Amino acid sequence: MKIDPVKLTKKLVSFKSITPRDGGAIEYIATILKKSGFDCEILEFGDGGTKIKNLYAKYINGVPNLCFAGHVDVVHPGQLKGWTLDPFSPEVRDGMLYGRGAADMKSGIAAFIAAMVNLVAEKFQFSGSISALITSAEESMEEYGTKAVLKWMESKHKKIDYCVVAEPTSSEKLGDTIKIGRRGSATFKLICHGKQGHVAYPDLADNPIYKMVSILSKVKDTTFDNGNKYFQPSNCEITTVDVGNDTDNLIPGLITASFNIRYNNIQTPDNLYKLIDEICSSVTNDYKLSMHSSRGTFLSTPDRNIDIMLDAINKVTSIDATLSTSGGTSDAAFIKDVCLVIEFGMVNKTAHQVNECVLVDDVHKLTAIYKEFIKNYFYPSNKILNQINVVGNASEGPLLA
Ligand SMILES: [Zn+2]
Repeated sequence: MKIDPVKLTKKLVSFKSITPRDGGAIEYIATILKKSGFDCEILEFGDGGTKIKNLYAKYINGVPNLCFAGHVDVVHPGQLKGWTLDPFSPEVRDGMLYGRGAADMKSGIAAFIAAMVNLVAEKFQFSGSISALITSAEESMEEYGTKAVLKWMESKHKKIDYCVVAEPTSSEKLGDTIKIGRRGSATFKLICHGKQGHVAYPDLADNPIYKMVSILSKVKDTTFDNGNKYFQPSNCEITTVDVGNDTDNLIPGLITASFNIRYNNIQTPDNLYKLIDEICSSVTNDYKLSMHSSRGTFLSTPDRNIDIMLDAINKVTSIDATLSTSGGTSDAAFIKDVCLVIEFGMVNKTAHQVNECVLVDDVHKLTAIYKEFIKNYFYPSNKILNQINVVGNASEGPLLA
């Protein structure tokens, strides 16, 4: 059985898998992989009424186990009037494939499924295992997605040795960017208390807005670090400040704010919390601070497998990819706890936008790159064996784009 990755992308886009639902996509992929000889486990996690579907599929029981990972859930299409087509009725127009999830990241999944299944059909001898970890909860409810699958795998003593997440990492052209790490994300919520009162009698009240403004400006002025060879400096953005007071002559009794810190591998969430807490207590004692950090930072320093991916990309696209850690977070931040992980996939320009699309040609090229990567992962060429760590040693300055 051979698979056309463009046809498969279209089929996957047609499943209305608005996060955290899979819309039937997980069963469909499992059926394909089963036919090709994969052992498939459909895993459901969740609480109460919400059950999240995930798939772990593996071909042959061997070591090492090379895994490709991705998510079939998509963000809501938003205002439909902005779309020139039904977001879940994919269409090819002028060499572009349109539909919600075309870029993020159903084409990426279609490409690695096609690469694996077609290699099986070509009787490629995997000297180890090949596997797929696919979730329907990456854009939301990530507790029940990849993270839960990895926990299940640990309890069953199932191991992954290396993982490629097929997120759309290319920025302008397919092949221009591999993500070898990501910053972590920590969201803070801060409540400052005061004493409600009349604006005409400020001495009888305590206005918490001034405390909040003072804390936020101190937070914004803080240099957390200067970054390093692989990472940009950690950065804080204030996302909302709320008082909810529409009375002209009232000093409010309470104010809340949220801010998010994208942090690099110099920081930990605990350190950041301590730092922010110190800033708060330097201004007032009447506050409540909480922090939520679900996906941490990770870095896979350049190694043999990154060289293999660079070579595969260059062979198919003639582009020398840049190694980057920029952008948002992904499930690679969970996978890094069990093995080395990199992310490489389609152009992400239209991800989450109306009229999301990818070049049809890129879907074929990505499939070819993944195929090349798999072959060389199991049978590295002499060229690769001779250039181990060349990438890691080559650059004195930052590797970042
Ligand atoms: Zn994604």
